[in-house]
Amino acid sequence: MAKNVLDTLERPQASAGDEGHVYFRTLFDCSPDPVWIIDGSRFIDCNMAAVRMLGYASRDEFLFTHPSDLSPPCQPDGTLSYDKAERLIAEVRSGGSTLRFEWLHKRADGSLFPAEVTLCPIQLDGRQLIYCTWRDISERKQAESDLTLAASVFHASREGIMVTDAAGLIQSVNPAFTDITGFTAEDAVGASPRLLKSDHHDPAFYEGMWRELMQRGSWQGEVWNRRKSGEVYLQWTTISAIPHPSGGHARFVAIFTDVTDLRRKDDQIKHQAYHDALTGLPNRLLLADRLQHAITVADRDDTPLALLFLDLDRFKLINDSLGHEVGDRLLREVSRRIADNLRKSDTVARLGGDEFVVLLPGQDMQDAAQVAEKIIAVLARPFDLDGQRVRTATSIGIALYPRDGGDAATLMRQADAAMYRAKAEGDGGFSFVDPDLNSRAALRLEQEAALHRAVENGEFELFYQPKVLLSSGAPCGAEALIRWRSPEGLIAPDQFIPLAEETGLIVPIGAWVLEEACRQTMIWRRQGLDIEVAVNLSPRQFRDEALPERLAAILAETGLPGSALELELTESTVMGNPTKAAAMLHRIRALGVAVSVDDFGTGYSSLAYLKKFPINAVKIDRSFIADMTQDADDDAIVQMIIALAQSLRLKVVAEGVEQQHQQGALQAMGCDMVQGYLHSRPLPADQFRAWLESRPSHPKE
Ligand code: C2E
Ligand code: CA
Ligand code: CA
Repeated sequence: MAKNVLDTLERPQASAGDEGHVYFRTLFDCSPDPVWIIDGSRFIDCNMAAVRMLGYASRDEFLFTHPSDLSPPCQPDGTLSYDKAERLIAEVRSGGSTLRFEWLHKRADGSLFPAEVTLCPIQLDGRQLIYCTWRDISERKQAESDLTLAASVFHASREGIMVTDAAGLIQSVNPAFTDITGFTAEDAVGASPRLLKSDHHDPAFYEGMWRELMQRGSWQGEVWNRRKSGEVYLQWTTISAIPHPSGGHARFVAIFTDVTDLRRKDDQIKHQAYHDALTGLPNRLLLADRLQHAITVADRDDTPLALLFLDLDRFKLINDSLGHEVGDRLLREVSRRIADNLRKSDTVARLGGDEFVVLLPGQDMQDAAQVAEKIIAVLARPFDLDGQRVRTATSIGIALYPRDGGDAATLMRQADAAMYRAKAEGDGGFSFVDPDLNSRAALRLEQEAALHRAVENGEFELFYQPKVLLSSGAPCGAEALIRWRSPEGLIAPDQFIPLAEETGLIVPIGAWVLEEACRQTMIWRRQGLDIEVAVNLSPRQFRDEALPERLAAILAETGLPGSALELELTESTVMGNPTKAAAMLHRIRALGVAVSVDDFGTGYSSLAYLKKFPINAVKIDRSFIADMTQDADDDAIVQMIIALAQSLRLKVVAEGVEQQHQQGALQAMGCDMVQGYLHSRPLPADQFRAWLESRPSHPKE
């Protein structure tokens, strides 16, 4: 049995020694902390805690173990355990002070564990010994290495990591955060995470995020953020709440990756799936989608819808003779020309080869014919393909929804068939599914072209119809009424004004009428005829913001005083947008020009409403006058209009007065003026002047 150092060294003297000795021996043995005594480089004593800690069966077994067996050959820093132990012991001995260090131990079973060792020099009976205690620090070491691992993950992670503190400010960020956002740790730490905010999300988005974070402790999703450079990017983000150990506010960790490129590729793939690679136009798939949608909208809103099927004539010939590259270039140029001539809401798709489809939501037969005509014209212009001049013609088939088919497939089939019929006619052109429409469309296109020519050639004339004062029987003015002297003869305005209005040609036509009426009236006035002129104004002219300026310019140019001009507007023109109309009327009246409401009684017929507008007169529609004295209702209406107009201090003109008895009745009702065949039909300027001069009572002075 090994001799215990405490037994041998302390026994001799000490009177109370025996008791004290036993006391300390017990303390030594029972201490839960392992203790050894080292003499020189040998272990000469230890307690049971040390024996247990190192996994030996008994104290003797432990004390007989060679010290080199208590450690692995090397320590974690690479030094030999034996050398290092010698050095440390020597240091304690020579320095006489306590030394604390970490040591890697080996248990009896060969397993290793880290310990914190304290060596303390003691003098015992003139011998210098070392008192040594140690602690197993496996757990602490584990925690430390966990921390180190966490830190290196934080630093090495390719995902951006941002931690916010309880106050909601950024506490730390990792290098990947800087790589992705461009903000350095100095920029970010202490700042609010709003630093990264883009304006791509509404407040509701962030509210939802917070709600989920608070309820579930985490949130995942895509967020559009902004880099330091200002660029907006998409990040896939996971935010986790880390509750504070002592309650209180949580901290948050956001881990994110930049998925902008991924998304872009995704979008690209989607784009490729729905577009034609050569021209970039929507392909058959996207067209099917749009067509289905357009049909749904047409049904819901009860609006028209047209589908054009296009095919280039002789494309195969061009492709075969000039090569595919020229063919491809031609197709690209064709796509561009078609697209340039469509509205935003229209779709042009390429089905493949030289087949294109144009979808025109909200457009009827007439619109479709116009678009087809325009496309045929732009594609008829020669193509310059790298020095090669190429010409092609286009055949178009037009299907209308719902008359030519109730579903997408039928519409496509029908338009395709119509295209073949157009092609059979040869040399480009279009054909409706319903052949009856072809002649109607052709007629209209013809009329439109003719009207264009009429504007260019100045084929219009003004006729004048007198207005007569009922009080004196004297003519007081004239209404200018347009006529079209076309190659086929004189055409009445009802035949072309609606078309002019639709096509916008009314703007140049209307401007001419105003100028011509003012010019002619000024000539008469210079000749001593005190005459005023009334000009009809179309809705489109009235909507033109520049109308007052244009009027002022015409008055200045012709010399006609504003008070000698009156504009006739229908109720619907004024009531379309009452606020705007009132403003426009005030601007017109400021020029001294009078305004009357034409065809009164056929529209809204709200005199009370008209009170709000600065107008001078109403013209009772001739449909009421025609049946007067035969239809008691019409009689009553006319009487009421006159009475109301008088109470609003508006002048009243009756139109279409053909019979003496009509005039008599109107006179009895207090009507101010009449206009109609009874006095004169509308006459060309020279005849109007002759009519005026033939009157027994000359126009007023
Ligand atoms: P409106 O302004 O109501 O013009 C009166 C129309 O009634 C004229 O037809 C005139 O010829 C006709 N008329 C006059 N007296 C009688 C009559 O006793 N019996 C019958 N049955 N009819 C009579 P017109 O000249 O064919 O003009 C038709 C419409 O065309 C005009 O109706 C006016 O709305 C429009 N219009 C005429 N000239 C112009 C113009 O220069 N610009 C615009 N925007 N519209 C015009
Ligand atoms: Ca009129
Ligand atoms: Ca009228």
